[in-house]
Parts: sequence; C-alpha cells; structure tokens
Amino acid sequence: MSITVLKNATLSDGSRADITIEGQMVTAIGSSMAPGIDCSGLIAMPAFVDVHTHLREPGFEASETVLSGTKSAAAGGYGAVMAMANTSPVADNANVVEKVASLGLDAGYAFVQPIGAVTLGLAGAELSDIVAMNQSKARVTMFSDDGNCVFDPSLMRSALLEVKRFDGVIAQHAQDPTLTQGSQMNAGALATELGLKGWPAIAEEAIIERDAKLAEETGARLHICHLTTAGAVEVVRWAKKRGVRITAEVTPHHLLLTEELVRSYDPVYKVNPPLRKTEDTLALRAAVLDGTIDVIGTDHAPHSNEKKQCEWQNAAFGMVGLEHAASVLQEVLIEEGGRDWGQFASLMSTKPAEIGGLAHFGSLAVGSRANITLLDPSAKREILSQTHSKSSNNPFAGIKLPGAIEHTIFNGVFTYRNRKLEVLKWPEK
Ligand SMILES: [Zn+2]
Repeated sequence: MSITVLKNATLSDGSRADITIEGQMVTAIGSSMAPGIDCSGLIAMPAFVDVHTHLREPGFEASETVLSGTKSAAAGGYGAVMAMANTSPVADNANVVEKVASLGLDAGYAFVQPIGAVTLGLAGAELSDIVAMNQSKARVTMFSDDGNCVFDPSLMRSALLEVKRFDGVIAQHAQDPTLTQGSQMNAGALATELGLKGWPAIAEEAIIERDAKLAEETGARLHICHLTTAGAVEVVRWAKKRGVRITAEVTPHHLLLTEELVRSYDPVYKVNPPLRKTEDTLALRAAVLDGTIDVIGTDHAPHSNEKKQCEWQNAAFGMVGLEHAASVLQEVLIEEGGRDWGQFASLMSTKPAEIGGLAHFGSLAVGSRANITLLDPSAKREILSQTHSKSSNNPFAGIKLPGAIEHTIFNGVFTYRNRKLEVLKWPEK
C-alpha cells in the first residue's frame, strides 16, 4: 500500500501537522518521523465539493465533457462535483444518471455525483421517476431542473414529498418565468439605458418565498441555487429563523461582479440569473459571512465560442467557475471578511458534502477518505480565460486574485500536484 506524508501542513483551525495517507485513507494527523512532501505554508482542507456544475455530457461535448470538466475541477481544488441534469438526453431517468456516474469513474479526476431532473425533459409538466434514480447505482439524492425553474407549485410540492421519502433535496433555480420572458440583464435604470429587457429581483424572491413555505409545510429539504439579490438573502434568513429546512448557495461571480460590466455588451458577462447591483453583492457577501448562505456553488457553465462570441441578445447564459472559485472566496471571506479557514472549508467542502449526501467528502480527520486540497494562501495570480475546461467564457480572465491550489488529492491519489494536472495512472487501470 502506498504511504504519503504531507509534512507540516496548516490545518483549517490554524494548527500544524503531518498528515499520513495510506492507500485511500487518512491514517494519522500529528507528527510523523517519516519523510514526505513539504507542505509548509499550505492550508490543508477536505477536498472541495461543488453542488452545482454543468459538465455538458452527454449532448454538448463541444462545450465540456466529464473528463475536461473534472480536470478543471481538480485544478480548482475539487474532489467532487455534482453534475446538473440539463444534458441531452436530460438526466431524468436511471440510465442517464448511471451513465454520467460511470463517465466520472472513467475520468478519475474527481467524484461525479449526478443530479436528477425533477421533471421529465425539464419540461415542468410531469415528475420524473425520482425514486428510481435514487435507487439506481448513481444513488441520486439531489434533484433539480436547473436552467429552468420548477414553476408549478403543485408539482414542486409533489417533488418535495417525493424526496422526503429518502431525505433527498430539491435544488431550485428560482426564476418566475412569467416575469422574465426575454429578459437579458438585471432590471433597472441601467437596463433601460442599455436597451436590454430587465430581469426583476422579484422573479427570484417570490419563488424562494413560495418554496420556503412549501418546504415548511412538507418538512422536506430545499436548496436554493445561486442567490443573487439582497431581497433573496432576506427571505432565506427569515425561513431559516422559522426552522425551515432550507440551504442556500451563491456563485463566485455574483459575489464580486456587478451589472455595470454589461455596459461593455460583452456576452462573457451574460449569465442566468444576471449580475446585479453593488448593494446586492454586498448583501450576498454579508450572508456568506453570517452563515445565511451555506455554500459556494460555482454554476460552472461552459459554452463554446460559437455560443458566446456573438451579439449579446443571441449569446448563451453562463460562465465557467471551477478554477477560480476558491480564490474569489479567499478574497471575500479571508482578505475582506477577516474570517478563518474553518469557515472557508465549511463553505467549500463540509456543507456542500452534507447537502449532497457525499459520505466520503467534507471531513479531514483520522479515518476519513483521503480527499484533500492544499491551498497556498500567499500566492497572487492572474486568472486565465481557459486552462483545463474546454470553454473560455471566463469573466475573471485577466483579474488578479489571491491564493492558488497547490495540490488536490482524490481517493489518496494526486490529481493535481505542484499547480499542475497529473496524468493519472490509477492502480486498478
Ligand atoms: Zn441555474
């Protein structure tokens, strides 16, 4: 069995230790006489988990594949990604979710947990076979029509009752479609000035409010994808205070970028939900600090140049996110927020693993699976438009951000080492 010792790493509580990995497991954390890899100055955390990734396979392989997407994940410090269901065919049945899971195993760069569609074909009319997907080999516990909102309240209520049977969760893309037909950017004075149809905050907030009530009434678990408005934060805070089983996510881009960027008409800034105002980003950052927002979800949404390098009106919505999410959170939580790496690890790993039901993730302790990220907090780097993703729709390209992922370890194997992707030679292959 291979033994690796990570020497003198800084744990998220600030203490220093040698971490011993034997095979796939962490077997000791303390001081070790054995030689190993010098990790002085690096923060060791449980590998990151993304509850919101679009891997695009099957169906949209020109934009991303499970292999390219998980390479991007490994480079971003992720050990696991949860793959959204809006593929072609849609992941609304046991066959497709099992296929996506097996593509993940073949790729080997990260654990891929498929998310099942709530409704057949994401059409919002009829529930998919949620229980069959849960009982499949892919063991799906999170369901989402992301890209679309589950708009029909009776369907949403049925979906919540269905997942409650196995303590699963519905992840809602909160967007009232009747209020956002043809919408292109955040509603307000700037949308009027730019001649683009506005996307009102109420379209998001009204759905969250309704669904919080449905979650309360059914006692089921609800997760809200990509919060973007100050009002949405208020609703989640209110629901949590009432004891509703609700969790919330924010993307890296909604924490730092605002609608002002749309002035350029550069479609790299076109995203669903849209970039909002400065006061919204400030409210989202405050909600990350005070725990109202539970997790960072990248909403990594790769699109080929064909879909992005065109006029704003015709461009696809979405941005890549896996390789800079940790740096954005370091900027917001550590540099600006003055918080610690324990809270960082909770937002990037522990809570996402808990929400997604990923047993082998979210903890770095003796006896836990060796899924570990080592981050260099002192690094400063310029974000590149494209590295391992097949797509380059990156709004952070050219921006300097703090921190760099030094190593990522997945199931005891380095997938990313010394800031470079590893060529994997898994023992079993
Ligand atoms: Zn979405």
